[in-house]
Amino acid sequence: MTTLSGLATARGYAFGPVFVYRGDGEVPIPQYLVESGSEEEELLRLRAAIKETRRDLEGLISVLRERTGRSDVRVFECHLMILEDAILTKEIEDHVTGDRLNAEAAVRKTMNGARTQFERMNDPYFRERVRDIDDVERRLLQRLTGRGRNTHLELKSPAIVVADDLTPSETVQLPREFVLGFATNGGSATSHVALLARALGLPAVTGLGDITSRVTPGKVILLDGTNGTVTLNPDRDTMSQFSVLVERQREFTVSAISGPPAGTLKDGGKVRILANIHPGVPVAGVKEFGAEGVGLYRSEYLWLDREMEPTEEEQFEAYRKAVEMTAGLAPEARTTIRMLDIGGDKLMRGISTKESNPFLGNRSIRYLLSHRDVMRTQFRAILRASAFGRTAIMYPMISCVEELRDAAVELATVKRQLDDEGVAYDRDIPVGAMIEVPSAAIMADILASYVDFFSVGTNDLVQYTMAADRGNDAVSHLYQPLNRAIIRLMKHTIDAAKKHGISVAVCGESASDPVAGVYWVALGVDSLSMSATFIPAIAHALSGLTRADLDEYAQVPERMPQGATGDEIFAKCRAWLIARLPFLEDALA
Ligand code: PEP
Ligand code: MG
Repeated sequence: MTTLSGLATARGYAFGPVFVYRGDGEVPIPQYLVESGSEEEELLRLRAAIKETRRDLEGLISVLRERTGRSDVRVFECHLMILEDAILTKEIEDHVTGDRLNAEAAVRKTMNGARTQFERMNDPYFRERVRDIDDVERRLLQRLTGRGRNTHLELKSPAIVVADDLTPSETVQLPREFVLGFATNGGSATSHVALLARALGLPAVTGLGDITSRVTPGKVILLDGTNGTVTLNPDRDTMSQFSVLVERQREFTVSAISGPPAGTLKDGGKVRILANIHPGVPVAGVKEFGAEGVGLYRSEYLWLDREMEPTEEEQFEAYRKAVEMTAGLAPEARTTIRMLDIGGDKLMRGISTKESNPFLGNRSIRYLLSHRDVMRTQFRAILRASAFGRTAIMYPMISCVEELRDAAVELATVKRQLDDEGVAYDRDIPVGAMIEVPSAAIMADILASYVDFFSVGTNDLVQYTMAADRGNDAVSHLYQPLNRAIIRLMKHTIDAAKKHGISVAVCGESASDPVAGVYWVALGVDSLSMSATFIPAIAHALSGLTRADLDEYAQVPERMPQGATGDEIFAKCRAWLIARLPFLEDALA
């Protein structure tokens, strides 16, 4: 029995056989002759892909080195050597310049040759190197073509998906009914794979370093997304203890569902509990878990995995479906559609351009304001959907007041167009700003007069405030939602909203964490929006607390020394909550 430790990315427990997801060397490639005279250009493309692949490998190696004493670093160092091998590189380049083969075809031809040589060797060590060549070839071809093999089609029975890393589109394509959970080499607790795992209500452990090479496909493993561990070859005792945990998890959810409506405090006070949803992702339990509306509809998932923008009609149909589904959740239920949040790690083939620093680049609202046609089409589709049920528009990544002003001018233009065309829509559709860039939180008192609501995106707010990439597990220790810097920004934002009489929500993943989510309620947010499967735990916690309890909880960080770290504040808050609500111990394990 071996237990591997990674990051506790999506809470919950699961056990089942392993399905290893990889695009193993069979990346479909185009093959053609490069136009005479364009060989140099093709070489540049090849060299850029080699450089990117080298960066990928170096990133992986540094993650592994962090966890000292890992012999598997050598595997990837060897991959780096293959990638940089002068003879192989020369051969690939010669195929491009001499035979005028396109870069993909040149790589495949050269790697096929190398594979054949290794396969002929008698020494099993060298024969094994074929797998390394496969791996390097796969990485390089994926970089050149931007795509991998559709291994998701091979998942035909329930299993735990083990992968190097999964992009949002790969995760979305997996057949939901067969996925019991995720365990990945890379990825962090706040990456988009993590968000999707939570949206699907599945446990996930990421940042495991080399799990793909340690598991045997088909063998049962135990996945503990609450504590961030994966157990290989579990013995009988461990297996039966684990089954008890899985059963307790199920009972906890059932008892929370049958409790008072989500968001009811012990003294009858109310907080709105909403769901985060993604178009195209099967959503687990929005209604059963008691969501009173949709606080974050991540519209950019309509753009994923495609070469062209979705049309107005496609968008309208998707939004209308969401608005109609939401209308059935509660009498006042509203769908808050977040406009296209492209950029950062949400890159879209054929649309995103290469930027050296995409997280600080032309993303989200900036992209929309520099592509007004895209913005207007999206406004039209959302406004048309608003005729079918309560809808709100939310702008992502607002960093200054001019973005709100410019967007308002554009929205007014689209409304006039629809009026001229006689198209129905909600004239008073509320408009909100996400507060996820520190400048927006600092200027919340000014921004508040331009919008009807705020929704704090703590995933990005923590990332930008702490300058810690949300997708990089090497800096995940800095990713502290209860760091005093974040608490100050949150308080300022909430105070500004109250002063201007607008509502304020939290829709980042911290809303779903009982320690942080309840703390935001204690500070005064009106609603929490999260992946629906987390609602029962939060609802259960809130139902055990009065407003007076929450006021006391809000004081916990205040009573600590000013120098207390984010982790210390988190631990103190956690201990306070468990002392009040002992049943949370399991959910917060
Ligand atoms: C956030 O940043 O907290 C957020 C909700 O947006 P996303 O995670 O989609 O970037
Ligand atoms: Mg965000």
